[in-house]
Amino acid sequence: MIENYTIKQLIDGYSEGSFSSTEVTKQYLERLKKLNPEYNVFVNVSEDLALEQAAKADKAMEAGDFSGLMGIPMGLKDVFCTEGIETTACSNMLRGYVPPFNAPVVQDLFDAGAVCLGKTNTDEFTCGVSTETSCFGVTKNPYDVTKVPGGSGGGSAAAVPLNFGVFAMGTDTGGSIRQPASFCNGVGMKVTYGRVPRSGVISMASSLDTIGHNTKTVEDAALVLDITAGTHRMDQTTPQEEVRSYTDYIGKDISGLKIGLPKEYFNDSVDDEVRELIMDAVKVLESKGVIVKEVSLPNTKYGVAAYYIISPSEVSANMARYDGIRYGALPDTDINDLEEQYLKTRGLGFGDEMKRRIMIGTYALSSGYYDAYYLKAQKVRTVLIQEFEEVFKDVDVLMGPVSPFPAFGIGEKVSDPVSMYVADALTIPSSLAGIPGISVPAGFTKAGLPVGLHIMAPQFEEGLLFQFGSAYESETEFWKQVPSV
Ligand code: GLN
Repeated sequence: MIENYTIKQLIDGYSEGSFSSTEVTKQYLERLKKLNPEYNVFVNVSEDLALEQAAKADKAMEAGDFSGLMGIPMGLKDVFCTEGIETTACSNMLRGYVPPFNAPVVQDLFDAGAVCLGKTNTDEFTCGVSTETSCFGVTKNPYDVTKVPGGSGGGSAAAVPLNFGVFAMGTDTGGSIRQPASFCNGVGMKVTYGRVPRSGVISMASSLDTIGHNTKTVEDAALVLDITAGTHRMDQTTPQEEVRSYTDYIGKDISGLKIGLPKEYFNDSVDDEVRELIMDAVKVLESKGVIVKEVSLPNTKYGVAAYYIISPSEVSANMARYDGIRYGALPDTDINDLEEQYLKTRGLGFGDEMKRRIMIGTYALSSGYYDAYYLKAQKVRTVLIQEFEEVFKDVDVLMGPVSPFPAFGIGEKVSDPVSMYVADALTIPSSLAGIPGISVPAGFTKAGLPVGLHIMAPQFEEGLLFQFGSAYESETEFWKQVPSV
């Protein structure tokens, strides 16, 4: 029987000699083999690599090296390029693509001793909120198998409470780490834009994409960021901003600090039960001496509309490379000329949601429409950035729900894309502003579905998220409520 280990507990166990990484890794692999077919969390299990890395970690630990993430089993969302291991972005377009290199962030994790169990499920090219657009089919929510796990990173979020790995890497462009974390009772970390190098991670919308992770606890989230944060010459959007020691913020006193509650994050579109749980969470923090005040981000309501112009525009540009020549598999049919090749490759390779995004983006960028859509959306983005800057003059962090509602039913929203898009109404504004955010477990609805508390901070102030998140978590420990599997 596998325990509900955190990274911290495993590191302690290793240094006390309680078990080896090989023993632990074998247990995770066994559990994966047994239960993954039911939950569809991993789309590819890299058993050989995992055992090889675990053996290497054991050697290092025998020599006294217990640093970083030594011997810790993890999953990687299937958009992280991994040398020799198929990486598909869960799209038929990339089936069979085996990268010849590791993304720099993957290399950093490997160098820190992490053990790769395999690749986790995601919506196709990370476009979605439910993992239902994955070419490998939906992942099931660990707390209710009739519900979605959220998305796009439903696989990485579900892996953690199911103990299919101790942590899992993800990407967050409009909410894809935080929203599934909130649906699956985990901690979901979205960093400041540029804080973690994106090179070698398959792009969705390049001005919004960020690399983060799903963990059980806030402390574990800090431990992973201590490894992944930094600059890299292959990603020119990583600034020369000082990398802090994020674990130093765990358990740091929060009394006297200020929380802002944006009133737009508590309006009628938010389920009553969700609102109540979040207000309970705020009360817990209030009892620890923080000052709480209502604030306003009046243009929040334009976030989704602006995002669904800017992000599909960038998606359409990024998807242009999948033409069967530069990237993308040629379909197994007769092709007579170049045009037919494009049509067949893109027609068969992309799923419906990708085609929808490419059409929206191409339309918004086309001459005659550019000013009315793309340019206007960029102006809205600037207004949202200014709004956050203004409000952070007055408060240290902002709090609200991650998602207006808990996990919804599989199939419930597939025929209505707009009802899917609004699921990210409360995560998208911070993505547009490039600020960091974290989802922390905040309890369960009466139906037993997890709800996440969203904490947002100014750019490069990830430390505040760990400070507030760990203060709240130490009083609640909802992460200990694992699904009955
Ligand atoms: N759900 C949003 C979308 O589909 C965000 C996706 C993401 O963060 N990768 O665009």
